[in-house]
Amino acid sequence: EFSYTPPGKHHLFVPGPTNIPDSVQREMHRASLNHRDPFFKTVTYQALNDVKYLFKTHQGQPYVFPGTGTGAWEAGFTNTLSAGDKVIMFRYGQFSHLWVDMAQRLGLNVICLEEPWGNGADEVKLEQILKEHPDTKAVCVVHNETTTGVTSDLPACRAAMDRAGSDALLMVDGVSSIGACEFKMDEWGVDIAVTGSQKALSLPTGLALVCASPKAKSKLASSNLKKVYYSFEDMDKFNAVGGFPYTPSIPLLYGLIEAMRLIKEEGLDNVIARHARFAEGTRAAAKAWGLETLCTQPRWHSNSLTVLKAPPEITDTSDFVTYMYCKYNVSLGLGLSEVQGKVFRIGHLGSMDEVSLLGAIAATEMGLRDYGALKNVSNGAGVGAALDYFRRTARMIPTRD
Ligand code: PLP
Repeated sequence: EFSYTPPGKHHLFVPGPTNIPDSVQREMHRASLNHRDPFFKTVTYQALNDVKYLFKTHQGQPYVFPGTGTGAWEAGFTNTLSAGDKVIMFRYGQFSHLWVDMAQRLGLNVICLEEPWGNGADEVKLEQILKEHPDTKAVCVVHNETTTGVTSDLPACRAAMDRAGSDALLMVDGVSSIGACEFKMDEWGVDIAVTGSQKALSLPTGLALVCASPKAKSKLASSNLKKVYYSFEDMDKFNAVGGFPYTPSIPLLYGLIEAMRLIKEEGLDNVIARHARFAEGTRAAAKAWGLETLCTQPRWHSNSLTVLKAPPEITDTSDFVTYMYCKYNVSLGLGLSEVQGKVFRIGHLGSMDEVSLLGAIAATEMGLRDYGALKNVSNGAGVGAALDYFRRTARMIPTRD
C-alpha cells in the first residue's frame, strides 16, 4: 500500500469544520474527568455564560447539548411548538431546505417561502404572508445560508414581523453566522438561536448550542412535540446545579471555554470586524478575476464564506475542488445540491488570519489558471487586489503594537 504525507500543512478553507487553534486542541487533550465531581460546576457555568456572550444575550437561556447544528434545530422546534403549528420558513439553499424537511417530518404545518438560491429572506414577502396567516407560530430564517454565501437581514425580518403585528417566535439558524457575522439575539428580538461548534467557534463538531428567549421558554409548557434527549426542561433542572442530564462531552466543554477565551480576548466585535475584512478582501480578489458571487445583492454578502460562480472553463466545480485538494493540498467547499458543479466556496470563518487567507486566494488563482481561466487577467491580479486590501485594513497585533 503506497502512502504519502504531503509536506507542509493541509489548508482547510471550507465553511465548517474550521481550523482548530493549538490552544484549543491542547485544552481538549486531557485525561478523563468525572463530571459529577464538585469542581465541574464551574466548567458548566462558565460554558453557559460564554454562550450568552457569543449570542449577545442577557435574557436568553443558553443550552449546550451534545450534538450538531441539526440537533439544535430539533431542540428549538420540539421545546416550543406543537404538532400542526403553522411555521413560515424561507428556503434558499440546502440548509434552509433541510430545516424545512425537519419541520415537516416533525409534523409542523410549513408555509415555505421559496427564493432563488443566491437570494436572502424577502422581508416584504414575509410581512405580507404574516398578515395573511396571523395564526403563525414561528418564522424561521437561516441567517447565513452556507450553500450560497448569503446572509439575510434579521433586523429587517424582525421589523417585518412587528409591522405585521405577528406574535410568532423568530427562530434563527445561526450555524455559520454566530461568532462570525454580527448577531444580536436580544436587540434583534430573536427567540430561538442556534449554532454548532465546528463553525465560527473553531472547535470540532459535537456541540449544539441553543439560546431561548423568555418568550420561547414560555411556550414550553404548552408545546406537545416530543422531546427527550433535547429537552430544555431536563437541561434546566441539571444546569441549575451545574450539571447535565447525561454525560457531557468533557473535552468539548473545555475546548469551548478556551475557544471563547480567545474570542473574548480578541473582543467579539473585533472578531466580527475581522470576518468582514476577510470577506471584503476575498471579494476584491474575485472581482479582479472577473468572477461573480452567487449572492445576488451586496446587502446579503456573507462574511463567513464567499461562494463564486465557476468561470466557463470549469464545467464542473466538483472536479475543480478535487483538483485543488490533489495538487495544492487545499480544501475548498463544493457546490451542493441545486448548485452542485456550478459554484465553489471559500470558507474564511473561525480561526483565520490574512496571511492564511492569502494562501487560499493564491491557490485558487493557480487552480483557475491551471483550468485555463483568467486568460485576460494579469498573473497575480486576484492576490494583488486582496493583499492591497489587507495591507490597508489589517490591524496591528495589540501586544506587539
Ligand atoms: N445550518 C447551516 C447554516 C449549516 O451550515 C449547517 C452545516 O453546515 C447546518 C445547519 C447543519 O449543521 P450540522 O451539520 O452541524 O448538523
